Amino acid sequence: MSPAARKLILPATIIALIVLTVLAAPLLPLADVRAMDIPHRFAGPSGAHWLGQDEFGRDVLARLIWGGQASLFIAVGSALAAAVIGAALGLLGGYFRGVVELLTVRAAEIILCLPPLLLALLVVTILGAGTWPLILALTILYTPNYARVVYAATQQVRGLDFVTAQRAMGTHPLTILVRTILPNVMPPLLVQMSLVIASAMVIESGLSFLGLGVVPPTPSWGLMIRAARSAMEVAPMLLVWPSLALAGTILAFNLLCDRLQSALDPRSITAGGALWLRPRARRATAAAMAAAAADKAPLLEIGELSVAVRELELVRRVSLTVRPGETLALVGESGSGKTLTGLAMTGLLPDALHVTGGKALYARRDGGRIDLAALDEDGIRRLRGDEISMVFQDAAAALNPVLRIGDQVAEAIRAHHALDAATLQNRVVDLLRHVGIPDPERRARAYPHELSGGQRQRAMIAVAIANNPRLLIADEPTTALDPTIQAQILQLFAQLKRDTPEMGMIFVTHDLAVVAEIADRVAVMYAGEVVEEGPVSEIFARPHHPYTAALIASVPEGGSERLVAIPGAVPSPHAMPQGCRFAPRCAHAEARCGESVPEIARPAADRITRCFRWEEVA
Ligand code: SF4
Repeated sequence: MSPAARKLILPATIIALIVLTVLAAPLLPLADVRAMDIPHRFAGPSGAHWLGQDEFGRDVLARLIWGGQASLFIAVGSALAAAVIGAALGLLGGYFRGVVELLTVRAAEIILCLPPLLLALLVVTILGAGTWPLILALTILYTPNYARVVYAATQQVRGLDFVTAQRAMGTHPLTILVRTILPNVMPPLLVQMSLVIASAMVIESGLSFLGLGVVPPTPSWGLMIRAARSAMEVAPMLLVWPSLALAGTILAFNLLCDRLQSALDPRSITAGGALWLRPRARRATAAAMAAAAADKAPLLEIGELSVAVRELELVRRVSLTVRPGETLALVGESGSGKTLTGLAMTGLLPDALHVTGGKALYARRDGGRIDLAALDEDGIRRLRGDEISMVFQDAAAALNPVLRIGDQVAEAIRAHHALDAATLQNRVVDLLRHVGIPDPERRARAYPHELSGGQRQRAMIAVAIANNPRLLIADEPTTALDPTIQAQILQLFAQLKRDTPEMGMIFVTHDLAVVAEIADRVAVMYAGEVVEEGPVSEIFARPHHPYTAALIASVPEGGSERLVAIPGAVPSPHAMPQGCRFAPRCAHAEARCGESVPEIARPAADRITRCFRWEEVA
């Protein structure tokens, strides 16, 4: 048993004892809670009445246990009802934003303008005193609190990689909300619940104290406190017992929710992340596979694609082609726009970014061609995870920490295909075996933190290829790994290319050594533009753009001691230079480079470059 689970034992046992005791009230040999014995009013503890008798001579112990039923039922019932409604509003508002946010979270917040006790009084006054009106009043009262907490947590979680990965699989938004986001917003939800249960008990006792809650002669802790107050000087213990019961129960719930929060926090689940540093024995022998794809019709044709945030262009008029069986590497420094180009193909651009021009014609499995850049969310979701898949850089962040690996692979399949449970399970195990995860039956039941870094990356690749995609976009899939694992993952990609000769791949990387290993063609990007493109072997042998030449010169090769660093940095989108964007860093720059933008030149039929002086660069 994990330490977090062990910490749950004490509060869970106390709560279980309290709940079982009040539920077992009809079975226990308790005195009748309504039976009065006026001659013995305020009598102290005795063999027949362990906690004494109240102002009407009724048994205090019996009323305390029966009263717990009403108090707990009202507090827990309203806390749960408000949690369900508030969580639904917060999830919907936080995930969809815009009008949905207005109609859910913002609408619920109107209730917060009213003083809580006044609102409860209003509802109880309108509907009359009693258990159900009180539950309704408390539910209305607490729903906005849950909605706000879940809304804030959803906002944080929806931007994380594993949610983006789920969207990349084409999973339905409601499935993402329930299976991916909800488990990750549970910790703050539970903290809120502990506060609400405590607060609901206090308000119940307060309203009962005012005669607006539980209706006598039904006992509740609030009513008992109310009655005991008027007899405090004669029998002070009558006030102590219900107060102790109330305070003890609130404390126990607080402790339980606090420990549950720790146990369910994904950050504690993934605390075993250092496992990924386990040494691996096998050495890498990855080699790039050349695909004979030149004569095939394009799988993806990107033309003049631009991506911008407001007026600021981050990707400018990018044109690329991927053919079936071909691997195209997008290479460049951080900020070059290579990742944004990949994300634009899957409709996963961050909210503030939009495709502002160009097209991306994709040849579907059924033979039709569609423009990915013009598809709405529903259209792109049908393709994502099915025909087009994505592998992310950080598998630890992209995999849902609270779902088993097998469930995540199954989820990817279920999002697009209806399979019976046995077939689905076999397919999951086959996929995990296919990507090289040892003992796949057992590993399918493991959580991400139980796998090494390399295995997590393999599991994410299994998720990505679960539906045999025609186009796979890998965004720096080896960057977060150590060199040995990196080589193994590259080997796995090379094997995928062999096994699925019709699958096209876009491999985003900043590492030219990786390009040499895996890609057939390479597009070099700089400051949002493609500055050179062509077959890997030719570009490496004879670059025609100074930036490509500088990148190649900066790669350590065979123990070479002469590495050439590229001076300066990629310009900020706010301060793009006039003319050639590489001019401030270019050793070949001349006057015209700073005045006009170089047009695309074609040094060979299958190559392009964007440089005035390409013939002199080699
Ligand atoms: S156009 Fe001029 S500044 Fe730009 S890469 Fe070519 S030589 Fe350098």
